[in-house]
Amino acid sequence: MRKAVIAANWKMNLGRPAEAVAFARRIRRELLASMGEGVDVVLCPPFTALPAVADAVSGTRLHLGAQNIHSEEKGAFTGEIAAPMLEGLCAFVILGHSERRATASQDEADAAIHRKVEAALAHGLTPIVCVGENLPQKEAGKTDEVVGAQVRSAFGGLSAEQASACLIAYEPIWAIGTGKAATPADANRTASIVIRGAIGDLFGQAVAAAVRVLYGGSVTPENIASFMAMPDLDGALVGGASLKDDFPVLVRRAAAAKAS
Ligand code: PEP
Repeated sequence: MRKAVIAANWKMNLGRPAEAVAFARRIRRELLASMGEGVDVVLCPPFTALPAVADAVSGTRLHLGAQNIHSEEKGAFTGEIAAPMLEGLCAFVILGHSERRATASQDEADAAIHRKVEAALAHGLTPIVCVGENLPQKEAGKTDEVVGAQVRSAFGGLSAEQASACLIAYEPIWAIGTGKAATPADANRTASIVIRGAIGDLFGQAVAAAVRVLYGGSVTPENIASFMAMPDLDGALVGGASLKDDFPVLVRRAAAAKAS
């Protein structure tokens, strides 16, 4: 049985500790009531707000995540944050988000994302590995090829145990922040055939069945239930809607849909 996850990607918002804490405190109680026992909720603030939000949610069942790490553990990488710096501060880290892959930095290439996964796992962080095709790739019918290659590159060479510890977020780039979500059936198909398929080829069917796969891209309180109803989707990575005061409503609907 895979536990559902709703991960909130605050992106470059609420980075001032005071505003982040005010928001976290405002939604905390309703969030905890909404998630029940059936859903893990992961808040991913900017680095600058992580310690303050960690204090604000300490002692609750809310989890924290970072939005990125560097692939190296230390060195001459001005302005970067390495996995060891996050030890004790958060439990999850988003890796390979398309908004970072789009920077064309060497540290966002497929090979670097694989090293980030290894670095995260080595320091007790659970990676949320983002994969997804852009619009030209979708229109050219290349979704399966692109997403399959991203999964094989990020996970190939890990042990089955390491792979099972990761979460994968299927985030079609054309759906992020556009208000045009994928259809639940299409997202489920990619999660099942392409993502679990590639994980199965690499590590066997037991790992493919155990790994948690999220959908991300214009998820809202209105459409979350339709994604949660899909058998191969275990939750969502939520951007814009996670910054709103009604985020707990989205979480409550996710929990209810997963329970039914
Ligand atoms: C995201 O940034 O991962 C995301 C899915 O954003 P949004 O929900 O705003 O589309």
